[in-house]
Formats: sequence, structure tokens, C-alpha cells
Amino acid sequence: MKIVERHVIIFSIVMFITATGLFIYLPFLSVEREVTIHIEELCRVDVEENEWEYVVLHHSATEEGNADNFDRYHREEKKWSHGLAYHFVIGNGNGSGNGEIEVGDRWKKQIHGAHTANMDLNRISIGICLVGNFEEDNGPTDNQFKSLTSLVAYFSKRYNIPNSHIVKHSQVLQKGTACPGKNFPYRQLIKEISSLQPL
Ligand SMILES: [Zn+2]
Repeated sequence: MKIVERHVIIFSIVMFITATGLFIYLPFLSVEREVTIHIEELCRVDVEENEWEYVVLHHSATEEGNADNFDRYHREEKKWSHGLAYHFVIGNGNGSGNGEIEVGDRWKKQIHGAHTANMDLNRISIGICLVGNFEEDNGPTDNQFKSLTSLVAYFSKRYNIPNSHIVKHSQVLQKGTACPGKNFPYRQLIKEISSLQPL
């Protein structure tokens, strides 16, 4: 076989492998983009954006629920005039969609949360609550985890929030809380977020 022929064959094989790879990879690229656009739309607000510096992760410690339930509880039982303490609630399929992201009023108004005992932190941190009890039951559903990863990745990029500022409620200094529970996959979340960030 002539050298030129061999080169042509090798070149064809390389091109074939590249094309196949692209063909397989492209749908994932567009799904990733769709999710990003969806999150962007969901998080859009009509007021000036706050300068968010932290993300604090919570579980609801209940088996079911949604933003409306928790809003009522925080308004009527806790007597918090702004209601729902969190900025976002991610459903588990019991009370709202599995992986559904509900946007709280505090996010729409870009005001402080009431999700930790530290008021200074509440002013600069985005509170996200996943429905479920990850201390007593299993961790989040796959859909919840996917939604959470996309949401946190979006915030981390938009507000330049480093991984060290993505914290569990239990990491905030205050009287002990297990929130978001021992089965919350924190390390996996940070790993996923890191892999999505450009190096
Ligand atoms: Zn909490």
C-alpha cells in the first residue's frame, strides 16, 4: 500500500471517529443549553439584583410540600411578614413536581431570606430548600438533584460564587441543625458544579 493511500485511510478513520463523537455529543450540548436558558428565564427579576455571595442548602425535613405550604407556615406560624423563608423550593413529586423549581417571593423582590439564624448571612445568601427529609430518609430524587445542580451552577457563574460559599445550613455557625440531613449529597454537588465550570 502506498504511503499516500495509507494516510488517506487514516485520515478517513479519524474523521469518522470525530464525526461520530460530535453526533453523539451534540444532543447533550443542546440539552445543557436548554436547561441553562430555562433557569435563566426562571430567575429573571424585574427589580435590581442583590449582590448574592453565598448559597445555603436546606431540606424541608418533611416528606412532602411545596412553596405555598411553606409560605403559609412561615407567615402564619412563624409570623414572618415576608412569608416563605427560602428563595427557591425544589419539589420531590409529593406536593409539587419531581424536580420542579418554585421561585419564592423573596427572590422576585431580591430581598433577604429567613433561612438561617444569621441575619447578615441571610442578606447575602440565596436559600434553596429541597422537599424531603434527608436525615431520616434517602437523599434527594435524581430530578431534584439535577435541578439543584443546574440552579447552583447558574448562580455560581452569574454572581461569581466560589464553591467555598456554597454551604449546607449545618455549616453555618448557629445552634445545631442537621439540615439538609446526613444523606444530602453535598460532595457530589460540589463535584458536579466544578465539572461544569470552565477551568
Ligand atoms: Zn435549613
